[in-house]
Amino acid sequence: MDLFPYALRKNQENIMRDIRNTLDARKHFVFESGTGSGKTICVLSSTLQYALENNKKIVYATRTNAQQRQVILELRAIRKKMKDKRIFGLGIQGRTNMCILAKNDPEIGNGTSEELSKFCSNQKKKVLSNKKNEGCKYYRKFIGDKQKIDTILEWTRQKLPTAEEFVEYCKKNTVCPYEMNKALIREAVVIVVPYIYVFDKTIRIMLFDWLSTSEDDILLVVDEAHNLPDYLRDLFSAQLSAWMLNGCVFEAEKVGDPSIANGKISVSKFCKILSEIVNDLRDTYVYGILENGIRRNTHVKSDAFIPSHELESEILSRLKITSITLRDIISDLIAYGEKIQDYRQKEGKLPRSYIHKLGIFLEFWITVEMDRYIKLVVDSADGKNPRIEAYCLDPSIGTGIINEFHSSIHMSGTLKPLEEYRDSLGLSQYTELVFYPSPFSRENRRIFFTRDVTTRYEEIARDKTIISRMWQHITNICNTFPKNTMVFFPSFNILSMFRNKGYFTDIERCLYVEEQAMSQSDLMDLVIDFKRCGVENSNGAALFSVIGGRISEGMDFPAEQLEIAVIVGIPYPKPTARQRGLQRYYDLKFGKGWEYTVNAPAARKLLQSIGRLIRDENDRGVAIVLDKRAPRFKQYISDMRESKNLLADISSFMNR
Ligand code: SF4
Repeated sequence: MDLFPYALRKNQENIMRDIRNTLDARKHFVFESGTGSGKTICVLSSTLQYALENNKKIVYATRTNAQQRQVILELRAIRKKMKDKRIFGLGIQGRTNMCILAKNDPEIGNGTSEELSKFCSNQKKKVLSNKKNEGCKYYRKFIGDKQKIDTILEWTRQKLPTAEEFVEYCKKNTVCPYEMNKALIREAVVIVVPYIYVFDKTIRIMLFDWLSTSEDDILLVVDEAHNLPDYLRDLFSAQLSAWMLNGCVFEAEKVGDPSIANGKISVSKFCKILSEIVNDLRDTYVYGILENGIRRNTHVKSDAFIPSHELESEILSRLKITSITLRDIISDLIAYGEKIQDYRQKEGKLPRSYIHKLGIFLEFWITVEMDRYIKLVVDSADGKNPRIEAYCLDPSIGTGIINEFHSSIHMSGTLKPLEEYRDSLGLSQYTELVFYPSPFSRENRRIFFTRDVTTRYEEIARDKTIISRMWQHITNICNTFPKNTMVFFPSFNILSMFRNKGYFTDIERCLYVEEQAMSQSDLMDLVIDFKRCGVENSNGAALFSVIGGRISEGMDFPAEQLEIAVIVGIPYPKPTARQRGLQRYYDLKFGKGWEYTVNAPAARKLLQSIGRLIRDENDRGVAIVLDKRAPRFKQYISDMRESKNLLADISSFMNR
C-alpha cells in the first residue's frame, strides 16, 4: 500500500491486500468491484510494488485506448508520490496508431497488423540498403540521428507520456514512435497494451522478444475483463464475404487470372462459383427459399447454421473435383497470394492479397474443430454481402498462455457470475474469485423500473401502444428535469426507429445523438459538449446513445455531467443462430446456457450503463429501466424498485 497515491476509499485496502496474497502465492485473481471504485489504481499500486521488489514486469492489457491512457495517468500519480525513477511505463498501440506512414495514408492505415508489419520491414530494408531518399524517413531519422533519439528517450523517461502524447512528440521530431517504443520497452516496468498483444500468438512472441523476459516474470493484468471472452471468440473466428470474393476476382483479373489445380480452373472462375455457393447457402438457410423459388421463412432472420461439410460438398460437386484437388486449389491460392503480396511490396504498397486471404480462410474452414466452432451463413448489407463464418464458441482456445505467467489479475465493474468467467477462460479451479461491494452509499442512487412498457418483440408486435408509451416516458423525463440525461437505446436500429417516427422534435432541451458511423474524435467532441451543458447550462442536455456502446462502457460522467440515465428495454442478445449456438454450447459444457450467455451479459450491460452515474462518494444519480422484465435482474441490482409514477419518484429523489 506504500505506493498508493490517494486517500484510501472503502475496500481499496482489501483489494490491494488480496492482490498481494495472490501474487505471493503465484495464483490467478478474478474480481469485481463496482464501476468508479478505483480498481485501476489499486491493481497498479499493488502489482507495481511486487514487481519492483521481485524484478518482475507488468503487462497491463486493456480493450480501449481510453483505458490505456488512464493507466498511464495513474502511473504518473504513483511516481509523483514515490519520486522513484524505476517507476516507468509505456503505452503501446498497434502499428495503425503508431506508424506515422499509416496514420498519414488511409490505404496503408487500413492494413492488418501482418500487412503493416511486412510493409514496415520493406520500408526499413530500403533505408538500410543506403539508397538515398528511399524507404521510411521516420526510420531513417531513428537510425541516423543519435542526438535526437537521446533527446526523445530522455523526454519520455521524464514525462511518462500517454501513447498519444508519445506519438505526437515523435512525429514532431520526425522519428518513428513504434521503433522508439521498442528502444525503450526494456526500461519499462509497466507495459500497457491492447488485448491482442497478449492473445495473438505471433504478436505476443514479438512483444516478449522486445521485452527479453520470460512469461514466468510477467504479472498479467486484464482490465475490463468482462469483454475478454467475446473478444477472444471474435479473434479466433474467421469469415468470408461475397464482397471479399469480388475483391479476389478483381485481383485475379489484374494479374492475368492464373489457373490453379493443374490448369483445371482459373482463380476468377473458382471465386465466382464460391460466391454463387455463398449466395445459395444464404438463400436456402437464412431466407428458406425452396427449389421452386418459394420463400419458406416469413420472419426476418439474419443468420443460420450450415452443416459442417456443406460448403466443401458444394464445391466438389459443382466443380466435379475430389477433395485432394480442393486441397491443391487451396495451396495454389496461398502461393499466388504470396506472390501478389511480394509484388505489391516491391512497389511500395501495402502487401495485401485477397486471394491469399481466401486460401488461408479455406485452409482453416476445412480443418476447424467442430466441437468448439459453429459454421454460419450470415446475411448483411441488405442482402448484398452474405458471408460464411466459422464462429469460435470457446474463448479458452486462446488463453492457455495465462497459466504460463507468474500470476494474472482480471478485473471489471461487472463480471458476475465470476465462476462463469473463470470457467469460460479455462482458468485453474484454484483461481481466487472475489466480489467487493460498491464503496458508494446506496442512498446516492435510485434505480426504478416501470411495468407498463417492454422491448420484447412479441409484445410490441401485439400492442402498438407500447412504443408511444415508451416515448412518452422518455420525453417526460427529458423535459421535466433540467439535468444532464442520457437515454440508452437497445440498438442503433431502434434509436433510428424513434427518430424516423419524428419523435425527437418533442425534446425541449439541447439534444445530442450518437451516430453509429461517428469517428472517435467526433464522438469525443459530442460528449465534451454534452458534459459542458451539465456544468454550465442550467437546463442540462439530453444525449441519446446505445447500450453496450462506446459511451455506456468506459466513459466517465462525474457530478452534474450526468444525473439521469434512462435505459430503454432489457439488452438481451438477439436470438440469432450464433447466439443459440453459444447458448447450446454453454448448456452442454456447464449446464447454464441461459444464465451464462443471455442473463449475465444483459445484466452486465445494464450495470455498465447505470455505472456511468456514480463515479465518486459525492455523486448522485437516478436510473430508470423502461421494461417490465427488469425484476429478473434483482440478483444483480438488488436496490432496483418499481415505480408507478416515474416523474414523482424521480422528483422526490432529486429534491431530497
Ligand atoms: Fe511506420 Fe515506423 Fe515502420 Fe516507418 S519505421 S513504416 S513509421 S512503423
